[in-house]
Amino acid sequence: MDASKKSPVIEALLSSLTGVSRVGAVQAASCVTCGWESRIFRDAISRKEYAISAMCQDCQDKVFGAPEEEC
Ligand SMILES: [Zn+2]
Repeated sequence: MDASKKSPVIEALLSSLTGVSRVGAVQAASCVTCGWESRIFRDAISRKEYAISAMCQDCQDKVFGAPEEEC
């Protein structure tokens, strides 16, 4: 199996997991809430959330609550 030849499905899955392609779409924009142009996120989930809500990590924490120790 050639690792460079990922199927489109896998590619889409990876994009949705990493948020790379989706974040690319909103990359020019800054946070809708505070206007801070931040692309530093705690994890892939936060990056994905930014792709959806365009809120920076800080605002995500305020809105959703800073994550406690999960699990
Ligand atoms: Zn913000």
